[in-house]
Amino acid sequence: MSAAILNGNLIRDQIYSELRAEIAALLAAGVRPGLAAVQVGDNPASKLYVSSKIAACGKLGLASFHITPAASSTTTELLAVVNELNRREDVDGILVQMPLPAHVDPKKILDAVNPAKDVDGFHPLNVGRLVAGRPSFVPCTPAGVMEILRRSGITMEGANAVVMGRSDIVGKPMAMLLLHANATVTVCHSKTKNLAEVARRADIVVAAMGRAAMVTADYICPGATVIDVGQNVVTDAAEAMRIFANFPDKMAAFHAKGSVLVGDVHPDVAHIAGAITPVPGGVGPLTIAMLMSNTVKAARLRRGSGTAWAAQHVARS
Ligand code: NDP
Repeated sequence: MSAAILNGNLIRDQIYSELRAEIAALLAAGVRPGLAAVQVGDNPASKLYVSSKIAACGKLGLASFHITPAASSTTTELLAVVNELNRREDVDGILVQMPLPAHVDPKKILDAVNPAKDVDGFHPLNVGRLVAGRPSFVPCTPAGVMEILRRSGITMEGANAVVMGRSDIVGKPMAMLLLHANATVTVCHSKTKNLAEVARRADIVVAAMGRAAMVTADYICPGATVIDVGQNVVTDAAEAMRIFANFPDKMAAFHAKGSVLVGDVHPDVAHIAGAITPVPGGVGPLTIAMLMSNTVKAARLRRGSGTAWAAQHVARS
């Protein structure tokens, strides 16, 4: 048996074509949704993430504003940047790329973002709304996972779902979304005992630990749906060989580049799962798609057309 591959690129393209119609309607009404991305300093990974987000805005016709305060900026200076973006009429969504320099208090910065422009869904007000099952901006990665599950026709109601990882940006909101979709949810973390045994009871496994290929076939009940959120860069040849012994193409790519991107799920799991997301090309593309979707929602909500959206969102949750 071989698992159905849940192709994140195709689902992203579907979402983009729906968003294009919504954006066209907003443009016709004289509204161009705008996203401001705050990138503090020049961390190469942050640069790459922010430039992908800005490129997605360009592709969809959204306005984007790339704000680049110096790495030496103080918490007070960054609060001033966020407050200015909160005030700007042409900015619908604000994202502050993490991590921030060590001397800056990230909580203070995230709490300063106007909840109505909080397209990452990290503000405590939006976190609370998510927990209470009310309309909110949902963190992009778990929101993307829900799109994959829904659009692939995976039954969540009554399913046993195991979420591996309890971070604020992935694991916890993921668990809440699955719970609102009437799954029976177990949240696991680094202190969980017998993780493989717990995972084997699941109809749906979401792996979000940041542990390269840790989830091997013995963690998975045959036929289960496996969502691999992990994005791990493996640079050690022996580790790459452990994971990709049966994948000569991947090993060739590893030797050419000196590294390979690996999920939290071992590729052999594809022989036992019913459906699985690949890495790359699974959850990753959805994260930016949901950021775009949240920005368009923010533009509509700020202009008072939120009621229809809210009703729709509740119905889908
Ligand atoms: P964090 O490091 O914030 O959280 C990791 C979680 O996994 C923690 O709750 C930790 O437990 C748990 N964990 C770590 N090791 C184990 C273990 N051996 N057994 C069980 N649980 C474990 O990571 P994030 O949530 O930010 O990201 C998780 C992964 O998802 C990363 O690979 C990241 O790159 C990827 N990611 C991918 C995105 C995408 O777009 N595809 C977007 C965001 C993240 P504890 O709380 O006890 O420490």
